[in-house]
Amino acid sequence: MPLNESAEVSVKHSDRMRRVGQKNTAPEVAVRRLLYTLGYRFRLNVAYLPGRPDIVLTAKKTAIFVHGCLWHRHFRCARATMPKVNVQFWQEKFSRTKQRDDAAIRQLESAGWKTIVIWECEATTEGELTTRLLREIPE
Ligand SMILES: [Zn+2]
Repeated sequence: MPLNESAEVSVKHSDRMRRVGQKNTAPEVAVRRLLYTLGYRFRLNVAYLPGRPDIVLTAKKTAIFVHGCLWHRHFRCARATMPKVNVQFWQEKFSRTKQRDDAAIRQLESAGWKTIVIWECEATTEGELTTRLLREIPE
């Protein structure tokens, strides 16, 4: 995202938005480390799949998205705040992101992929995340 798009939002928002689209965000690294510890092997940022999933477990035909709560609009999450200026601009931008995310998941699932969305706020509690990954990743 060009820097000028975030220039007018509050400092708190622009700080988080600067990280949008970056590789190796803290939540991604946490999920990857956990998957590795659990014995899974995976690929990163697989460009040939819809939505370019952050983590792909090819052997399990599972695509994992690690989503930032603000940018990807985590429903009812305190981190998914709305910028106070340029509200319409951000609403439209967020809405396009959401549509893209939904479309990618539909395409993956209709091609037989298991999809898992992990929100950044969920990537902080290792115990819960472990339980969930073990439950959701196919045997
Ligand atoms: Zn969240």
